[in-house]
Amino acid sequence: MVFTSWQQQWQESFKKLDNLLAYVNLSPDDVPSLDQNSDFPLRVPRAFADRIEKGNPGDPLLKQILPLSQELDNVTGFMKDPLAENEANPLTGLLHKYKSRVLLTLSGACAVHCRYCFRRHFPYNENNPGTKGWESVFEYLKNHAEVKEVILSGGDPLAVDDSLLENFVKRLENISSVKYLRIHTRLPVVIPARVTEDLLNIFLTTRFKVTMVLHSNHANEWDGSLLLPIKQLKEVGVTLLNQAVLLQGVNDDLSSQVDLSYRLFDFGILPYYLHLLDKVSGAAHFDVIKPIAIQLMREMIEVLPGYLVPKLVYEAPHRSSKIPVDLGL
Ligand code: SF4
Repeated sequence: MVFTSWQQQWQESFKKLDNLLAYVNLSPDDVPSLDQNSDFPLRVPRAFADRIEKGNPGDPLLKQILPLSQELDNVTGFMKDPLAENEANPLTGLLHKYKSRVLLTLSGACAVHCRYCFRRHFPYNENNPGTKGWESVFEYLKNHAEVKEVILSGGDPLAVDDSLLENFVKRLENISSVKYLRIHTRLPVVIPARVTEDLLNIFLTTRFKVTMVLHSNHANEWDGSLLLPIKQLKEVGVTLLNQAVLLQGVNDDLSSQVDLSYRLFDFGILPYYLHLLDKVSGAAHFDVIKPIAIQLMREMIEVLPGYLVPKLVYEAPHRSSKIPVDLGL
């Protein structure tokens, strides 16, 4: 087998619907209401497409990445910036919503375009500090000693190459009040080759306690290609958690949720959050209403050990933390 770097795999991602459909043995007629011209374009790495069941238009991984014309529906309550993140930006690329932690965009790019993404309309190009903006970010952190944790988000922060990430981490280490580094990423799930030797070395040598919050929504995203990278991340001391989004038609049933929790645990990862969908325009067809989500959670509590039950949460504009959903238990 020829090894292909993660960058090359990314470059060779499916960007044309017809090519992706052919790869998974489907024709456009198999999937009603495709949107061939979405302004949130298709992007799917082959390593992820390999986990889509061939010939199945209802595959739960396919549904997460297929642009449909429903995305054009104007649905009341769904908007472009549902969390008003533009308003919480003290500096380009830096969100300081939570007291003890800041969220920093390292890259606006993602290896996969998830149709439900709440940041699908976020102006990343204007909100990425780039290496030139780092000085002001570090200055901000020096003046805000209450910030203990820096959360790298995006986009996908692992979209940057290892030398840039290493440079960032080394300079962040000079700010003594910052103790923890968290990385919110989907990249190792969609392109397992993203877990490189250099990346592992950054985690091995940093003084920070590192947590990686992976994002996956369905057990089928976890196959043998992830075994080694996840094992390696654990070996260098990274704490691994998963967050998922509750998505209609993808994982809104008991067996999908139970399977996901157990599969994560088999890989040594704990389920952390199950998010209610952020009401972003274009994603209304994924929405699962709160009473249904609560019912599902109650059923999960019956079948899963407590440590495998994720917290059901949602986010709201101008609230300083995620809001747990009251399950009425
Ligand atoms: S990887 Fe994350 S940020 Fe990127 S499109 Fe998917 S959900 Fe959105």
